[in-house]
Amino acid sequence: MGNLTAWQNWAGNQKATAAAVVRPTTTDAVAEAVRVAIGTGTTVKPVGSGHSFTSAAATTGMRLDLSGLSGLVSLSRASKLIRVKAGTQLSLLNLELARQGLAMPNLGDIDVQTVSGALATGTHGTGKGYGCLSTFVVELELVTGTGEIVRCSRDQNAELFMAALVGIGAVGVVTEVTLRGVDAFVLHADERPTPLGEVLAKRSRAALSLARGDAEAAARTAREACALARDAGLQLEGRRAQVLLGRALAAGGDRTAAIRELRDAEIALDAGRAHTHRDEARRELRKLGHRVDQARRRGAPTGALAGLAALSAREREVVALVAAGRTNPAIAEELFLSRSRPSRRTCATSSASSASPHGPRSPPRSPATRTRLNSASAAWSPRPGRKAPGRAATSRA
Ligand SMILES: Cc1cc2nc3c(=O)[nH]c(=O)nc-3n(C[C@H](O)[C@H](O)[C@H](O)COP(=O)(O)OP(=O)(O)OC[C@H]3O[C@@H](n4cnc5c(N)ncnc54)[C@H](O)[C@@H]3O)c2cc1C
Repeated sequence: MGNLTAWQNWAGNQKATAAAVVRPTTTDAVAEAVRVAIGTGTTVKPVGSGHSFTSAAATTGMRLDLSGLSGLVSLSRASKLIRVKAGTQLSLLNLELARQGLAMPNLGDIDVQTVSGALATGTHGTGKGYGCLSTFVVELELVTGTGEIVRCSRDQNAELFMAALVGIGAVGVVTEVTLRGVDAFVLHADERPTPLGEVLAKRSRAALSLARGDAEAAARTAREACALARDAGLQLEGRRAQVLLGRALAAGGDRTAAIRELRDAEIALDAGRAHTHRDEARRELRKLGHRVDQARRRGAPTGALAGLAALSAREREVVALVAAGRTNPAIAEELFLSRSRPSRRTCATSSASSASPHGPRSPPRSPATRTRLNSASAAWSPRPGRKAPGRAATSRA
């Protein structure tokens, strides 16, 4: 047993001092450590790279440091089955796979997590067609809370297998993992800055105009937001602006154009499975007497303010604050752009800086398309201002 009992996670927001630290290098050593812990009435917590933001890996009991339980056990090019020790870092796994012309189907943003740590928390990459990393697992070997070594899969100890796949360190200590890989592939990454801030700001201005009864200005600004979003490929935001445009046109008396915009947005939002926003479009269409098939029954929004149906609850709250004279439009714009709910204190600070909390609103528009070999799908971002320490090695083309 070592004496390095103090621990903190990567982000530094979780700290704990363990009663004891054990660094097993074999499954038998893990089982032995668990039995020792049972004998002394101590709890056991396996710990990987400490990249979980939560207290999932924190313990005041026995910490099992799995950095020594690392490496490839076996790999079959034919079946694409890869057996790996639980404490293996994803970066090492990726290297081993690349050597054999294989890869994981999909990975997260970084590659320093251990295989077992990533599985235990449901770590995932991005892409509609992929499950989290646990969905690539075929078999697990684990040490139970009684110190037994058990193998489990969909066919063997299935219930234990399903629980341990995303066990958050509470369903035994995973010691070995069998994963199913895919043939190595080349990722084509298309990365470019988008004027999301501008689109959101225009949408907020349009909503405010509508709330003030200026339907013409609302329609003009919403149309600008639509065009900007369309040029930047921001489909969802564009369609949301289009719903607002439809509302503004209806408020201005142009029922035919309003129905055209709303119907167009409704079809696109339905196809994109953006059901909440689709329902907003449908609600507006119904208000205009336009029959919408398969419409979900939902109460139309009520209240003194017009034109708020195309907004989220938080955005509606901001608009209501402006209408009540509790904040001014400049601050409202910031509140629209911020992710947090408006607080009384923020609303009352009329001298607040106009700088966006998310940096410059208009990033330089220089679309850049490039092809990367074996690089990451990086749509998951941990926290603003934090730099990821390493990038995952493979993702799908
Ligand atoms: C910069 C950064 C980027 C990230 N990117 C992504 C991302 O793109 N997608 C995503 O979904 N998540 C992401 N995460 C979250 C990260 O993938 C998870 O927190 C993951 O659990 C970290 O793995 P770890 O090895 O550090 O585990 P730890 O944080 O050490 O442990 C996490 C949990 O796993 C348990 N555990 C560890 N080993 C075992 C074992 N052998 N048996 C049983 N339980 C075990 C622990 O007890 C604990 O409950 C990111 C985190 C950071 C800091």
